[in-house]
Amino acid sequence: MEIVLSQIKKRFGDLQAVKTLSFTVKQGEFVSLLGPSGCGKTTLLRMLAGIETPDSGEIAFGDTVIFSSEKNIMMPPQKRNIGMVFQDFALWPHMTVFENVAYSLRARKQKKQLQEKVMEALRSVQLEPLWERYPHQLSGGQQQRVAFARAIVNKPGIILLDEPLSALDATLRDDMRLLLQRLVKRMGMTAIYVTHDQSEAMAMSDRIVVMTKGEVIQMDTPEMIYHYPVNETVARFVGKGSIVTGTPCTQLGQSGFQLGQEAFLAARQAALFPQGKEVQTVIRPETVDVSLQQSDHRVTGKVETISYLGERYEGTLKIANTDVVLHFYSTKRIETGTTVYVRIHSDQIHVLQSKGGAYET
Ligand code: ATP
Repeated sequence: MEIVLSQIKKRFGDLQAVKTLSFTVKQGEFVSLLGPSGCGKTTLLRMLAGIETPDSGEIAFGDTVIFSSEKNIMMPPQKRNIGMVFQDFALWPHMTVFENVAYSLRARKQKKQLQEKVMEALRSVQLEPLWERYPHQLSGGQQQRVAFARAIVNKPGIILLDEPLSALDATLRDDMRLLLQRLVKRMGMTAIYVTHDQSEAMAMSDRIVVMTKGEVIQMDTPEMIYHYPVNETVARFVGKGSIVTGTPCTQLGQSGFQLGQEAFLAARQAALFPQGKEVQTVIRPETVDVSLQQSDHRVTGKVETISYLGERYEGTLKIANTDVVLHFYSTKRIETGTTVYVRIHSDQIHVLQSKGGAYET
């Protein structure tokens, strides 16, 4: 089901928790709300669920307006055909797995095929054999799967997820993430997923809404947000990399950027900016090529940190005679203090904005 938010605002006392927010989530889309603590993600989700009432604006699910300040519409939560999953699972401790999942069907007096529906939901999260257990007899991951089963038993068109994996350990979180992604897509649900974990948002979402201070800064695919962040906040929040001040320059007909002492030519966007005026650039680690041997034109740098990630190493290096620190990846360990030769795939240098000014293209 499509979700359309128009001009939604919400204030708590003096705090404008959500500021004039509008966006559309397409039918079947998986969209993450990503942003630092307190930026209004949960408030937005609660307004969609009907637990919180916006001060103004309109929300529609498909053709149905579920909230409108102008038309005085506020559809109650139980009529909204949504499933919800929270961080803390919120299972009833005195009820079995079966009864926890059956609860919302019973509450809506949907007794027809109740047993089949509950068992089907439990099967979809691979928990069918544990239907008689109580929550305290389950692991954290199993409890979260019960919470998923409970959220989908009504076959909702929309599922709202508020940091559902953050209470789980890293390995379990990966397994649950895949299960959740499969389930949401298989059932054709539209999903809104609240997280402050950027790697989770990148891995799971069709599109990401990056928020700060109650506002949407950028809504786009994970790839666009990673490669073309609109500003420094997004660039720092999503993915690894360095924000480096550079100056557009031209040599022998090629456009590029001067970073410190060095010119990196054939750089994307460079020709769009006035020469000689500083701009902020984003340099991602995979565009930084590091070698122990000096070949063609390479800049010298010194390795400052190195960390082993299992499949590769990740490090930082400082370019000689500058304050520029770059993140890089390597297949081999390069000890701290080693002098290396650096090349940036300069066509992938992305310009954020002119320093201290507005975005200029
Ligand atoms: P987190 O990632 O920490 O959950 P969030 O992005 O979900 O944060 P919200 O929970 O939506 O943020 O809160 C947004 C702001 O609104 C915060 O400053 C919060 O303190 C405030 N807020 C939320 N609910 C209420 C309330 N019922 N009364 C007063 N202030 C509230």
